[in-house]
Amino acid sequence: MTAVFLGIPTAPRGVGHLRGDQSFPDAAREALRDGQLRANLGHATSTIRGKRAAVAAELPDWAELRAAAKAIKTATMARLDEHLLVLERQVTARGGTVHWARDANEANAIVTRLVQATGADEVVKVKSMATQEIGLNEALEAAGIAAHETDLAELIVQLGEDKPSHILVPAIHKNRAEIREIFLRTMPGVDPTLTDEPRRLAMAARAHLRERFLRARVAISGANFAVAETGTLAVVESEGNGRMCLTLPQTLITVMGIEKVVPTWRDLEVFLQLLPRSSTGERMNPYTSMWAGVIPGDGPQEFHLVLLDNGRTATLADEIGREALHCIRCSACLNVCPVYERTGGHAYGSVYPGPIGAVLSPQLTGVEDNASLPYASSLCGACYDVCPVAIDIPSILVHLRAEHVEAQQHTTPEAVAFRALSKAMSSPRLWHLAQKAAGLGRFLSRGKATLPAALPPPASKWTRTRDLPTPPAKTFTSQWAEEHRS
Ligand code: SF4
Repeated sequence: MTAVFLGIPTAPRGVGHLRGDQSFPDAAREALRDGQLRANLGHATSTIRGKRAAVAAELPDWAELRAAAKAIKTATMARLDEHLLVLERQVTARGGTVHWARDANEANAIVTRLVQATGADEVVKVKSMATQEIGLNEALEAAGIAAHETDLAELIVQLGEDKPSHILVPAIHKNRAEIREIFLRTMPGVDPTLTDEPRRLAMAARAHLRERFLRARVAISGANFAVAETGTLAVVESEGNGRMCLTLPQTLITVMGIEKVVPTWRDLEVFLQLLPRSSTGERMNPYTSMWAGVIPGDGPQEFHLVLLDNGRTATLADEIGREALHCIRCSACLNVCPVYERTGGHAYGSVYPGPIGAVLSPQLTGVEDNASLPYASSLCGACYDVCPVAIDIPSILVHLRAEHVEAQQHTTPEAVAFRALSKAMSSPRLWHLAQKAAGLGRFLSRGKATLPAALPPPASKWTRTRDLPTPPAKTFTSQWAEEHRS
């Protein structure tokens, strides 16, 4: 265990989307009942998985790129404060304004104030995990400002009054027929003969969005990277809707987690090779937009960069857990995770689902607020194998589990069970008695290979989510005694 750092604020409660209403096991149980969801997820994740594997295998220096990415991230995090100050200086020198937001409340207040200052009552948005994390749309709505999502998948989620369930493909849990139904129900003026052909659906979304792009005076974006040495922001996307947001409105507000900074352009080169291959399975993403400050007469004439902490400094203070801040949100770990593939993203309760969500969300909120997430893994290690920045997610999961157990002061049912087991195993007489007691389980099993699903409490905490094998007819020691009696 590393030291516990006290006094560094985590993401505040009551705002944003880092905490679910249910624990992971409860939410997962509900999700597992939805056969359509599992079919949609299985199809989508296996397709992206195959594409990623093929394009990653094309690069002879994939392993070296991965090692370089890890080294750059580790070095950047070690001097994050310095890089952020360089970024601030460069953005300011190029006509932008930098704002520092300690948490979701501060970030929401800053953005709302900036939009209100323009007199606008609506904004267009580029897909952004950071603004989902802080619940910006809800904050803007409370101030009478409508936020229009422009990424196709985000638009589907917004129109369907749903929640994103994947980092890269937020509507991965919806199939074409479901998307058609949402469009017919919610898009004003949509062609009633709309089919579920992907091209027709995309055309309907384009017509819907085009009008909003042309009238919007303010855009809000996230950022995939920020290059400190030049104050350049970068957004990587596939549809071109992001570029419309970044270029058409008069005012651009970018909300970015502080961990997204890279020191130099040379560093960016490494990540721009890894990200598209790991995320969409493409050699290169269709649109990479970069901008630095303001250029008179070209693009937005007002640019604000909001640097968001919201629990990141607290995460950085943990020597093992801080590696979660290296994430470039490619979502490759989600697509290979056997747990995510079956439950989908909603079960994680946070905007960051899957393996990275299981290590990032509990650190941003404090482990006690997302205590079930570090256990939402079989520790198979598939996430580590595919991660383009080589984040050792399984080790962080084990580390966070240990932190959780320690915070519980050893009162979890598992801790009690293991203490009892340790006592029994240190005494031959107690061990013999325990074996005899276990034999009673054979009655409960009624001849089946496993015991009934729900044993009474506290054992039910274990058997609700795991099979407990029926004890064998003979223990090893009784069988040994029988065979060596003579
Ligand atoms: S943890 Fe690694 S694999 Fe998962 S989203 Fe982040 S960068 Fe991608």
